[in-house]
This record gives sequence, structure tokens and C-alpha cells, in this order.
Amino acid sequence: MGSILNNRPELKKALDSVAEVAGYLWQKGWAERNGGNLTLNITEYVDDEMRAMPAISKVLQIGVTLPQLKGCYFYCKGTGKRMRDLARDPMAGGSIVRILDDCASYEIIADEAIVPTSEISSHLAIQNYMLECGSGYKATLHTHPIELVAMSHSQEFLDSEHLTQVLWSMIPETLAFAPLGIGVVPYALPSSTELVAPTLEQIKRYDVVLWEKHGTVAVGPDMMEAFDQTDVLNKAANIYMTAKNFGFTAEGMTPEAVQKIRTVFNLPDHR
Ligand SMILES: [Zn+2]
Repeated sequence: MGSILNNRPELKKALDSVAEVAGYLWQKGWAERNGGNLTLNITEYVDDEMRAMPAISKVLQIGVTLPQLKGCYFYCKGTGKRMRDLARDPMAGGSIVRILDDCASYEIIADEAIVPTSEISSHLAIQNYMLECGSGYKATLHTHPIELVAMSHSQEFLDSEHLTQVLWSMIPETLAFAPLGIGVVPYALPSSTELVAPTLEQIKRYDVVLWEKHGTVAVGPDMMEAFDQTDVLNKAANIYMTAKNFGFTAEGMTPEAVQKIRTVFNLPDHR
């Protein structure tokens, strides 16, 4: 049997972009082994033939009930799969799932019965929120950006407002492209439902969420935008680190200079 991507150019294009991002994550050193995971809402590409496809897995539980996801389809990275492999072949590194009518469970429909990422409940809870608020956002991305994770090892930077101000002050583009900043979620066991509620709360306010001593979660209209949000903030963290390596603490732009950018470019301060 062929791939679900055959003769579906729009779906293939969307997943090619996911694969491109997966390659960047590996190149940046943010995706060691099977590190990181992602989901993409692909419901807009679903045709009658896809809707009629039988499940190729048993029914799997999300762990939470997500009413907005009724009838939705997602591409999800597979658990244990490597981003660098997904970069070559997205359907070998993930699968397409259909949310069932109870909005609390799902089944895999293609190409192989690759069980989705263990962080699926956080990802789908965010997808549910993005539909609820009519954002048009389709992508969620969890990765391990080195400098941001390193900063989350300092008590000083576990304060969302402070961390955001420091990052914004590194270069003007940080504020321009991440005007909502970064929110911090205290450490919790990876893959645990404990992470779901605080992550959701923070992503409502901030562009990117930083899980203490672990990684980031970003959202976007597509996977490339979710990647860019993470990249912009991590670049600022990298500049902060580079100054430290030179032996000094980066001075940062003044609060007045940062505020002027917000005013002149009329940047939003909420979603
Ligand atoms: Zn992780």
C-alpha cells in the first residue's frame, strides 16, 4: 500500500515543511536522539477517502477530553522516533491520527501504526485551545534549545517577566518577532499530565513556553512559524551567553529603547 501522501500534494507540502523543520532541529543540536516532538492539525487536507480509512491501531486515550478536536486529524511525531529521520521521511517518523467522537481518544489511520509522542496530551490540549480561540494556528513544537534550557537552570531566569525582559533587550528583533515573550513552567516529570494545565495557561499569554530544565513549547500557523518563534528567543539567549563567554554580562537595550520598539511597530501585548 502506498503512502497517504501520494496524490495529496497539499498534505505532502505541509508535511515536507514539518520535515524541513525537523532537519533544522537536528542541525541546531536541539533534537538529540528522539528528543522533541510536534503535532500539526491537517484537518483542512482531509478528503472523503481519508475519512473512510479504517483504523490501523487500537483506540488510544488522550488523557483529557478536548471538545474542539471532534472530527480533527493530526500528524504527530512518533514516540521514540528521531527528528533527523523524520527530516528524511515524515511518514516513517510519525503518523496521522483521527480524534474520535468522545474527544478523549484517537486512532491511527496512516501510514503505519506508529504510536504518537508521549507528550501528546499537552500538544492536543494546546491544539484544542488554538481552535477554541479561533487563532488559525495549526502547529505545536516541543524541542530542547540549548541556551534557553541552560538559562532555566538559574533561579534568576525562572521568572517569566524577568527572562522576557532580558531576552527582548538583547537585539531589537527579539521583541519584534516575539512580542508576547516567554513564559516559564516549573519543572515537572516529562510526559506527565501535570505539565498540561500550566503549559496551556502560559501559551495563552506568551509566544513560547519554557519548561524548567527541559525545553520549549511553541505554536504557530504552521511548523516553520513555531520553529521561528523558538529560534528568535533562543538567539537572544545565545547572545546573552556569548557576552558571558567574553567575560561580561550583556548590558541589554534600555527599557525605554525596548518600549519604543513596541510603540513604533505597534506590537501586540496579548494573543
Ligand atoms: Zn523534551
